[in-house]
Amino acid sequence: MSNKPTFDLITIFPEYMAPLNLSLIGKAQEKGLVEIAVHDLRQHATNVHHSVDDTPYGGGAGMVMMPEPWGKAIDQVAAQRPGTIHDLIILTPAGRRFNQSIAQEMSSYEHMIFACGRYEGIDIRVTEHYQNTPGFRVHELSIGDYVLNGGEVATLAIMESIIRLIPGVLGNPESIVEESHSITTADGGVLLEYPSYTKPAEWRGLPVPEVLLSGNHALIEKWRAEQASARTQKVQNHLK
Ligand code: SAM
Repeated sequence: MSNKPTFDLITIFPEYMAPLNLSLIGKAQEKGLVEIAVHDLRQHATNVHHSVDDTPYGGGAGMVMMPEPWGKAIDQVAAQRPGTIHDLIILTPAGRRFNQSIAQEMSSYEHMIFACGRYEGIDIRVTEHYQNTPGFRVHELSIGDYVLNGGEVATLAIMESIIRLIPGVLGNPESIVEESHSITTADGGVLLEYPSYTKPAEWRGLPVPEVLLSGNHALIEKWRAEQASARTQKVQNHLK
């Protein structure tokens, strides 16, 4: 069996994942750099109506996703890759906030299973069960401090950020070296990228900074470093 990163996505809306066949991720699949499979949770429903949710114990609004369809779906995709570590990613706004360094770490994982919640989320015993199952590592991840209707958009965002870091996926690997969030600063923060310009040299009365036309690489590098710091500082001040 190959060691290329594989992604098993479990959702009640498999059609939501169609964008994974486009652009660089579509090409990465065609080139055999990654393998992606989408699974319909409802195929693992245990009742005749194919429902995967039920009312919450203790009362309250909304419905909760039942653990058994999840258990069956996850066990099935894990069984297809024996002897591999299964990284189970459970999308939830109550999870650890996803960022570039987590993306970097995940780009070395071999088998990722993404569990896309809907309704009020997934019965927490799914998390607890797989935390205690040998061969699994569980990651509860959030893509930000806001609430989406489901985990599909979060899965697409996380996967795109991981897959573009896999060697061979981007045409120019240099382009990820200086990117925003990739460089750590002395105080442990991350740097945002300097602003970019292209032709024409003047657009609607706005000229490209003189230094970028100078051909002096040392000066350009200095200017870019200053701009990156100023930009980072501005965003940090805004967040305070
Ligand atoms: N009741 C949950 C709460 O308050 O924490 C919110 C459930 S949300 C309506 C339904 C699903 O959307 C979640 O189970 C999760 O899979 C996904 N979701 C919503 N917001 C998310 C976020 N910020 N990051 C990752 N997944 C999210």
